[in-house]
Amino acid sequence: ACPCALGLATPMSIMVGTGRGAREGILIKDAAALEILAKVDTIVVDKTGTLTKGRPQVVEILNVADQDSNTILLYAATLEKNSEHPLATAIVEEAQQRGMKLEESQSFISIPGRGVQGKIGNNVIIVGNEAFMHSFGIDLSAAAMNIDQYRQVGHGVMFVSINHVLAGIIITADSAKESTKPAIQKLQQQGVEVVMLTGDNETTAKAIAKELGITKIKANVLPTEKYEYIRQLQQQGKIVAMVGDGVNDAPALAQANIGIAMGNGSDIAIESADITLMSADLLGIVKAHHLSSMSMDNIKQNLFLAFGYNALAIPIAVGLLYPMFGILLSPVIASVAMALSSVSVILNAVRLAKIKI
Ligand code: ADP
Ligand code: MG
Repeated sequence: ACPCALGLATPMSIMVGTGRGAREGILIKDAAALEILAKVDTIVVDKTGTLTKGRPQVVEILNVADQDSNTILLYAATLEKNSEHPLATAIVEEAQQRGMKLEESQSFISIPGRGVQGKIGNNVIIVGNEAFMHSFGIDLSAAAMNIDQYRQVGHGVMFVSINHVLAGIIITADSAKESTKPAIQKLQQQGVEVVMLTGDNETTAKAIAKELGITKIKANVLPTEKYEYIRQLQQQGKIVAMVGDGVNDAPALAQANIGIAMGNGSDIAIESADITLMSADLLGIVKAHHLSSMSMDNIKQNLFLAFGYNALAIPIAVGLLYPMFGILLSPVIASVAMALSSVSVILNAVRLAKIKI
């Protein structure tokens, strides 16, 4: 009647399962995450850096009015030198490749999910998305002509203004990781709905979503809205995993039932997440999901093994079969059974270490 095996059943599976995950580069911080992951029905994925390589490159600079593209790049790069955003890095790298020397800027301000603003000499420079430009009342109609064609192929569009007049447009491309598409297909086959969440423009987001087979997207979201969106899904009764890499994903990662951070992501994202994928590749989620259901099955088997011995042996020991058959349970057999139940639970849990995920 000593329930050792019952006490071992769950922790053994979780421990072995967590270890199995670590060998695949899936670091599970919170054991509960291993339990919940199998129940997740919606996975919300940040686009930049999670679905895509997160290393955008400048592919084109369009000039509006009479500015030449080098001037636009120089101004934008001087300002973006202060920002850690991947788009900022792309602009700075392009300027350096063209051999530009970047001066310092003054009164630099960075608005997450929007863009940056600052002064270079006597000029006020603003670099950012449409919403950011509109918030300064900058007229973008001169650009309307041909930016859509870039967005339709999944390129990013950033506007550059000098003294509140649109001066140029910087087009960037960030390709999807090779593993993203197969990973999404597998998750969808497992019955999980995949939602793309991005601060980027809707047309750009749609083009990339289409390429990856994602049907549900939410674009133009601010970092604080990412968190809000997760909460809404949860209120609809969904069990949500959020996958992200950036500082701006941290609140959403913490709010989701399970937060999954990319290993190459920012420290704050990793800190807020329950699971970190060392490989920074979405196939890790497919594996983690599989590992989670295998671990849950293993726990159930263990509970059955642990409980089975007791359920069978205790009634016999009590003498249930004695009146009819004269059978009693010798204490020797009882103690062997008691040890066996623990051994079988441990052996069953250790099987988890050998599974293919
Ligand atoms: P994501 O959710 O895709 O990681 P963000 O929320 O960081 O994207 O940014 C959303 C959009 O805001 C970007 O696509 C870009 O147009 C604009 N933006 C953000 N930061 C900057 C920056 N430092 N410079 C220029 N534009 C920026
Ligand atoms: Mg990101």
